[in-house]
Amino acid sequence: MPLTGLQVFKLLPNTNCRECGYPTCLAFAMKLAAGKESLEKCPYASPEACAALGAASAPPIRGVTIGRGPRAITVGEETVFFRHEKTFVRRPGLFRVLNPASDRDTLLDSWRALRIDRAGETFQVDGVAIPESPGSPDDAAAAAERGFPVALLAATPQGASAMAERIKDHRPLLVPPPGADLGAYAGLAARLGVPLVVSGADLNALATAAMDATRAGVADILLEPPGADLCGLHHNLSGIRRCALDRIHPGLGHPVFLRIAAGEFEKAVLGITKFASLLAIEDHGGETWLPLWTLRQNIYTDPQKPLQMQPGVYSIGEPDAKSPLLVTTNFSLTYFIVSTELEATGLACHLAVVDAEGLSVLTAWSAGKFSGDRVAKSLRAMQATERVSHRTAIIPGYVSVISGELEDALGDGWRVLVGPQEASDIAPFLRDVWETVFR
Ligand code: SF4
Repeated sequence: MPLTGLQVFKLLPNTNCRECGYPTCLAFAMKLAAGKESLEKCPYASPEACAALGAASAPPIRGVTIGRGPRAITVGEETVFFRHEKTFVRRPGLFRVLNPASDRDTLLDSWRALRIDRAGETFQVDGVAIPESPGSPDDAAAAAERGFPVALLAATPQGASAMAERIKDHRPLLVPPPGADLGAYAGLAARLGVPLVVSGADLNALATAAMDATRAGVADILLEPPGADLCGLHHNLSGIRRCALDRIHPGLGHPVFLRIAAGEFEKAVLGITKFASLLAIEDHGGETWLPLWTLRQNIYTDPQKPLQMQPGVYSIGEPDAKSPLLVTTNFSLTYFIVSTELEATGLACHLAVVDAEGLSVLTAWSAGKFSGDRVAKSLRAMQATERVSHRTAIIPGYVSVISGELEDALGDGWRVLVGPQEASDIAPFLRDVWETVFR
């Protein structure tokens, strides 16, 4: 269980030496207990204190890594039931099930090449699930060689062994059939040092299976929850998370694995919204994926951090040195609204997105992050000033107050034009003001 501030304080040296950056050991202890500081900042903490605090601060759901290399995925390590309590830590991995009858190499290559950038996140296939078949060891090897984390959907201990032995160095996830006798699979996972999925007819049986696997030497476990229908599955997914967070049973302190058969879209949605850590999804086409990725992105973003765009100069169309240069903040929503309106004008433009820590225009200005001086520095740093010959920057109407300061800070003959307050007025503004006055 987490320690209170006073309990943490009793483990510290109580010398108030300030080397941690806090005036007293008690102040530091309060931050440690709240999870906002690291014990490493106290050079005098005893090994006993480190051990006690380390155990107390271990997440209630164990982290498990599947795969190796840049695409390896870690799941688990969650600490809250509701996202508004703190934040969700690990977004669920969405694995595609490889149909054994498919054109394997073409399909895997297309999955590997697939990348969709949306609001600061890249959507891609997180991993591949390989059902047991006569050719499944080769399928597993083909997926692992392309860098994908792999889940092995075994039907028999012999099939599991053939697949797992083939790619054991790629740290695959071993998934026995639901309800299978665990013994042979647990022995294989322990011997190869790979993570294992366990299942059970109810939560008690599931927790017992996880404890049995631990005793058999399996270090990393995922739980496949029971659930005859969506209602039962919902109940069990919530029960596992609640029992894990309250540390009611150590057998339930593991990430959750879910199989999604073709057409079970509602089950995938339930899994993403209700704590599943890894979903192996069968589908007949790409249309399933964009809504699931988008749903996941909406849930697994930190509500305390606004979605941000990478600061820089974005081209709308094919702008040249005579094209207008508009300036806005890097709040994703602002960027998408403004860029959409600009695209609708059909006029090529430069859109300079200034780092305002993800705040909208007016909020950023109020917080001192969109001042004339700061915007000028950003425009120079991103070389926006070198992209146009007319030396004119258009700022949002809501921050007309910074126009003079920005002109002074830019200097060198630059002028600042105050644009409209609302993005919907950009088109008439460019048509009536820019096209007539500056062209
Ligand atoms: S560095 Fe350690 S001993 Fe010094 S004040 Fe901070 S917590 Fe106390």
